[in-house]
Amino acid sequence: MSEGAQKKQEKPRKFQAIRGTRDLLPSETVLWNHVEQTAHAVFGTFGFGEIRVPIFESTDLFARSIGAETDVVSKEMYTFGGFAEFSERVRGGRMEGMLSEMQPEEMVSLRPEATASVCRAYIEHGMQQLPQPVKLYYMGPMFRRERPQKGRYRQFYQIGAEVLGGSDAPAIDAEVIEMVMTFFDRLELQGVQLDINSIGHSADNCRRGYVEKLKAALDKVKDKLGPDSQRRIETNPLRVLDSKVKDEQDIIATLPRIADHLCEECAAHYAAVKHELEMRGVFFRENWRLVRGLDYYMRTTFEITAQGLGSQNAVCGGGRYDGLVELLGGPPTKGIGFAIGEDRLILSLQESGKEVASGEWRVASKERKGVASGRLGVDVYVAWMGERAHATAIRAAKDLRKAGFSVELPPVEQKFGKALGQADKLGAKYALILGDNEVSEGLWTLKTLADGSQAKFTEPDLLEHLRRQKAL
Ligand code: ATP
Ligand code: MG
Repeated sequence: MSEGAQKKQEKPRKFQAIRGTRDLLPSETVLWNHVEQTAHAVFGTFGFGEIRVPIFESTDLFARSIGAETDVVSKEMYTFGGFAEFSERVRGGRMEGMLSEMQPEEMVSLRPEATASVCRAYIEHGMQQLPQPVKLYYMGPMFRRERPQKGRYRQFYQIGAEVLGGSDAPAIDAEVIEMVMTFFDRLELQGVQLDINSIGHSADNCRRGYVEKLKAALDKVKDKLGPDSQRRIETNPLRVLDSKVKDEQDIIATLPRIADHLCEECAAHYAAVKHELEMRGVFFRENWRLVRGLDYYMRTTFEITAQGLGSQNAVCGGGRYDGLVELLGGPPTKGIGFAIGEDRLILSLQESGKEVASGEWRVASKERKGVASGRLGVDVYVAWMGERAHATAIRAAKDLRKAGFSVELPPVEQKFGKALGQADKLGAKYALILGDNEVSEGLWTLKTLADGSQAKFTEPDLLEHLRRQKAL
C-alpha cells in the first residue's frame, strides 16, 4: 500500500469533551457573564470582596474539612500526583535518568468545593488580623466524579461566599441568606424556595444526643428501609432524613425531630435567625429534614430550590461551620457561607425563557438570528468595496469600536448584495455601505436592516446618529 493510501485509511480520532464536562458556547456565555456580573455587583453592595483560590489543593485539606467518610471525599474526588504516581512511573521504567531530580510530592485533588480553600487562605494570610468578620466570595469550577445527568456534572461551577471571624450573631446568618435571595431576585429566578433548619452543635445535650435517639428509632424500623438508608444508619444516620425513596417517606415522618432536641443556646440562636429573616422580609420554610452532605456544618443550614430543574432542583446550599478554621489549624473562628450551583441557576433561568442580550433581559425569540450564529449583538456590518473603501472601512471600524459599537468588518471585499445578506444572517442592526462614491463624497450610507431605510451621513454625524439610536 502506498503511503498516501495508508494515510487516507487512518481516520483521525474525533475527540469529544470528557463525560460530565461540557463546552459553554457564546450563545450561552452571555448569560453566564450576566449572572457573574450580577454576583459581583450584588455581593459588592454587601461588602464582600472576591477571592480566587487554586483549582487544586492538598488532598488532606478536603479530607479533613469535608470529612473522609463523606461521598465527596471517599468516592468523588479527582486525586493525582504524589508518591503513588511517582512509584508507578519508576516501575514503568519511564523515569530513568530523572530519578535524582524527582521528589515524591503530596497527593493533590481537584477541588470539589471551595470553602476549605477559603478557610486555608484565611489562615495562611493571617486574615484574623483584619477587621472581623472577613467577607469573601468566589466563583469558578469544581470537580466531583458523580453520575452525570441533568443539572449534575463532573466539572460544574459554583458561586459562593463565606463570612469568617467575628461573632456568630444570628443577624450574620440572616444577612448572608438575604444576600443570596437578593441575588436571585435581581436575576428574576423563578419559583425560588428557601428551606432552613438548625442542626445544632456536636454535643451530648444537642446534636450528638439527637443522633443517638434518631439511630435508636431507625434501628426499630430498619427492615422497612431500603439498602442505602440501612447503610446510612451505621455511617451517618442524619443522611437518612435526606432520602428521596418514596416508600420510606411515611416512616421518616415518624422519626424524632432535631428541633425538639437542640440545646438552649442553639434553640435560641435558631429562633433569632428566623426573627432576623422576618425583619428582612425573607420568606422561608422550616424543613426539619434538611441536613447537609458535608461534615463541617452546624446550627443554621439552608437550601434554596428553583423551578425547571427536575430532581436536581437545589441551586444553593449553605450553613454555619464555626469549628472549621480551627480544625484546619487556625484560631477559633466563626464561619458561615453558601455555594450556589451556577449551572443549575442558569438552567433554571433558561427554562423560564430568560436570555440576555446587550445587557438587557429579553424573552427568547427564535427570530434572533445573531444568537444562533454565536455573534451576539452585532451593531454595524461594514460592507465595503474597492481598495480606497477598504482603508476607509478599517478606519470606520476602529472609530465605531472605540465608541463602543460591535463591528463586523469582512476581511475580503464582497458585492454589496452578498454583504447585506451576510449582515442580515448575523443579525446586525445596521450595514455601513462604503464604495467609491461614498469615499469620494465623504458621505457614508447607513442602512437600517430592520426596515431597509437608508440615509447618508458625514463621519462625525454618523457616530452621533448611532449614539443617539443606541441611547433610545
Ligand atoms: P446535591 O444534593 O444536589 O448533590 P450537594 O448537597 O452535593 O447537592 P453542595 O455540596 O452543598 O451540594 O453544593 C452546593 C450546590 O452546588 C448545590 O446546591 C448544587 O446546586 C451545586 N452542585 C453540587 N454538585 C453538583 C454537580 N455535580 N453538578 C452541578 N451542580 C452541583
Ligand atoms: Mg451532591
